Amino acid sequence: MATALNAEEHILPKDTILIDGAWRSTASGGTMEHVNPTTGRAQAKFAVGGAGEIDEAVQSAKRAFPAWRRVTADVRREILYRFAQLLRENADTFSHIAALESGAPIGSFNMIGAAIDHVTYAAGWVDKLEGQITPTYPMEALNLVHHEPYGVIGAITTWNGPVVTAAMKSAPALAAGNCVVIKPPELGPFGTALLGRIAMDAGIPPGVLNIVSGAAEAGEALVRHPDVGKVTFTGSVPIARIVLKAAAENITPVVLELGGKSANLVFEDADLDNAAIMAAQMSVVQTAGQGCLFPTRLLVHENVYDAVVERILSYVKTIRIGDPLDPATDMGPVISERAVNRIMTYIDGAKTSGQSRLLAGGNRVGGDLASGFFIVPTIFGEVEKNATIAREEIFGPVLSIMRFRTEEEALRIANDTPFGLAGFVHTNDLKRAHRVAAALEAGYVSINGFPPMAASTPFGGWKQSGYGREGGRIGIEEFLRPKNVHLPL
Ligand code: NAD
Repeated sequence: MATALNAEEHILPKDTILIDGAWRSTASGGTMEHVNPTTGRAQAKFAVGGAGEIDEAVQSAKRAFPAWRRVTADVRREILYRFAQLLRENADTFSHIAALESGAPIGSFNMIGAAIDHVTYAAGWVDKLEGQITPTYPMEALNLVHHEPYGVIGAITTWNGPVVTAAMKSAPALAAGNCVVIKPPELGPFGTALLGRIAMDAGIPPGVLNIVSGAAEAGEALVRHPDVGKVTFTGSVPIARIVLKAAAENITPVVLELGGKSANLVFEDADLDNAAIMAAQMSVVQTAGQGCLFPTRLLVHENVYDAVVERILSYVKTIRIGDPLDPATDMGPVISERAVNRIMTYIDGAKTSGQSRLLAGGNRVGGDLASGFFIVPTIFGEVEKNATIAREEIFGPVLSIMRFRTEEEALRIANDTPFGLAGFVHTNDLKRAHRVAAALEAGYVSINGFPPMAASTPFGGWKQSGYGREGGRIGIEEFLRPKNVHLPL
């Protein structure tokens, strides 16, 4: 396995900072080593940008803005379509980079498809961003409402889908006529660097899209920068609190896409095979459970509880854990040794808490994979609703299963959380499906499955899962601000 991975490492871009159309491999913060989560071995270095590089990038974006906003819609639309096309042509390279930088299996759900969709969708909006003429009184007047770009957008992204997150943020911002500075995650800066190269090849002019790899210092400098018109942040709730405080300095508006602890309700009339496989796949297998909206709390009606648990346990036995570069692999590693320790602390705590019963997994993978960051899919049953593993975002392959007796009880448990990113319902009763969807306190509800989310649908959280939306018309409007122009007649 190590040999195959060694052969692939050359595809990780060496330059990860893009300012004013020029690439850099050095920065004020020195370099950071990137560890391959599959081998646990350092595989590449990248430049760590700080406040200085962020300022240069923001100034470059500010200079580029007047010309970019005047680029006519047909030309801007064409550039973004070319951007999407070139992303598609490089899809395999993106998958390989994702396998190396975050351990995402090349044969499983591939987020590059979603990134292409977001860029294509945003391109389609460029020539449709109209203003309004509103009625006036008591005087006759011509009252126009223009929707104008902010100028410079600061985008901060996460490692569990860095390319799709960069695309979800930058494409609508660029379509709306803004320039962008992206601060990619320190745990995965390489895919974003390739995205930046492709953006340049597509004809996005120098300074319009900048990238500064780095860590917290760069992120905070971007949020605090007085020339950043709006910040869009994807990450955890604790860091979002720091971002909000920093944004308060210049009253900078912020979009927050944060974590979750989504409930998945399985009623007794559901298709149990479908519900069980979806519950296991989307909570412990896909990206090793590291997904913001994954259904990590499974609530099952008492009459079908045993049947669902049995199906889940037989399914997880078939999961192939291993090298993410092997197309046959279902599940790869988690992102880092630190993540392993955090997840194992949750697992070990639950094992002795007396508030749940370990049904599968519960340990790190040994053997050939022992040096990597692999954790066996872990299932806890009979989880009490106030247990730590039922309440906190673990961000790893751990599923908590609970029983319920009535719809009211299921909804009470589902909504008893500070998060509100997503909810899932399994039932063949159409009225119940809609009733429960309406009662779930979440920004996204999926019934009887978890289909890929189209860029045309607005995605975002309620409660502490954040605010603002990515995708859909609303996702474009996040990057426009209204201006009222009044002309007395
Ligand atoms: P994180 O909050 O640790 O980091 C997110 C980003 O913030 C990184 O780029 C990091 O460098 C940067 N950052 C760190 N300190 C900062 C500071 N002081 N100021 C500004 N930026 C700073 O999150 P993570 O561990 O990378 O990602 C996991 C979290 O992201 C989970 O909670 C997950 O649910 C959430 N997430 C949400 C969505 C969504 O769309 N809602 C999508 C993916 C991940």
